[in-house]
Amino acid sequence: MNRRDLIKGITLFPLVGGSTVSLGHATALPPPERDFFKELGIRVFINAAGTYTFMTASLMPPEVVEAIRVSAKQFAILDEVQDKVGEQIAKLCKAEAAMVTAGCWSALVLGMAGILTGMDDKKVAMLPFLEGSGMKSEVIVQKSHANGYHMALTHTGVKIVTVETSDELRKAVNEKTACLWFLNREAPVGAIKHEEWLSLGKELGIPTMIDIAADVPPVENLWRYNEMGFDLVCISGGKALQGPQSAGVLMGKKQLIAAARLSAPPRSGIARGHKVNKEEIIGMYASLDRYVKLDHTKEWKEWEQKIAVIDTAVKKVKGVKTEVIVPPVANHTPALKITWDPNVTTLTSEALGKQLRTGSPSVEIVSWEEKDSVKVTVFMLKTGETEIVARRLKEELEKATKA
Ligand SMILES: *Cc1c(COP(=O)(O)O)cnc(C)c1O
Repeated sequence: MNRRDLIKGITLFPLVGGSTVSLGHATALPPPERDFFKELGIRVFINAAGTYTFMTASLMPPEVVEAIRVSAKQFAILDEVQDKVGEQIAKLCKAEAAMVTAGCWSALVLGMAGILTGMDDKKVAMLPFLEGSGMKSEVIVQKSHANGYHMALTHTGVKIVTVETSDELRKAVNEKTACLWFLNREAPVGAIKHEEWLSLGKELGIPTMIDIAADVPPVENLWRYNEMGFDLVCISGGKALQGPQSAGVLMGKKQLIAAARLSAPPRSGIARGHKVNKEEIIGMYASLDRYVKLDHTKEWKEWEQKIAVIDTAVKKVKGVKTEVIVPPVANHTPALKITWDPNVTTLTSEALGKQLRTGSPSVEIVSWEEKDSVKVTVFMLKTGETEIVARRLKEELEKATKA
């Protein structure tokens, strides 16, 4: 917004807070925004790649930024903030209880801690040293689900036991088994599906936990796994939910959430370093509140339109083929896979990624997955950026086309 637009805006609308601003006083204009990225020499870019942590993942919408700004102005008792926000998030997600964590990884650690310690402060203080503690110490995971994020659980001291079939699972269960852990993203791969996992948990009397970190949309996934019967559900706050990137949610059974909080700030325990303060807790609530109210059908149509703009542009280049892909579970939003004939286009995927990155404006795409192919997603694009991405891709592909 330039100064003229700003003045135009002021004549039409009262500013937030209810007071109208007299045009006679230049001091009533907010100071120009300080551009820290420019000041510090940090590259900013158009994100046509997706919600990658290394790219700072997602941008918080104005409702969330506003929630953070307003919450920064008052003191509150941290436990009370968690209590009250937890109640509201639980309602939104149809869970018994909920708490805001420092991301999905943090939810995994805290959920696991809650299962192990229950409400016993002595046990809380013993983590992560389980030997001789009277606590259980093993978690069962399907082999195909054990691909990195399950390591969060081991921060509590538990050992991971992998199985492939329900027979193996039954054999692996013993008096030390604390939890059956499920990675939603790998549900299509593992032999044991949700329902069977849950019925095994029930039959054997072992709590179940599910990681659905990146698994909205669809919005219904916010409550689907609570309703299915998982004792604990963990999700990232800063992926498609566009909440604070350093927040997440642990939700599920009331006693387990209460127990998990014993290991979390303001208390000192294994998760003292997983601090989320009132701004992020309230920001997380504001983002969920916004997300459940969003017109998801309209949003999906907008994504398809953006994909179409890029698709139309790049397909004009000789030898270029495209395909719209929608990942079935995690990051379930439309993406465009762009592939070229290496005999026609003399370009590597990495080189195209670099050209876009170092161009003006800088654009990030997924250029590291396959040879002679890149991928773009559109759900993180701001208004007006789609056309730039389409133009830049077309330009670079054309430049590399043999005559
Ligand atoms: C992103 C992700 C996590 C970690 O989430 P954070 O919110 O970054 O802590 C855990 N599990 C899966 C499957 C993820 O995709």
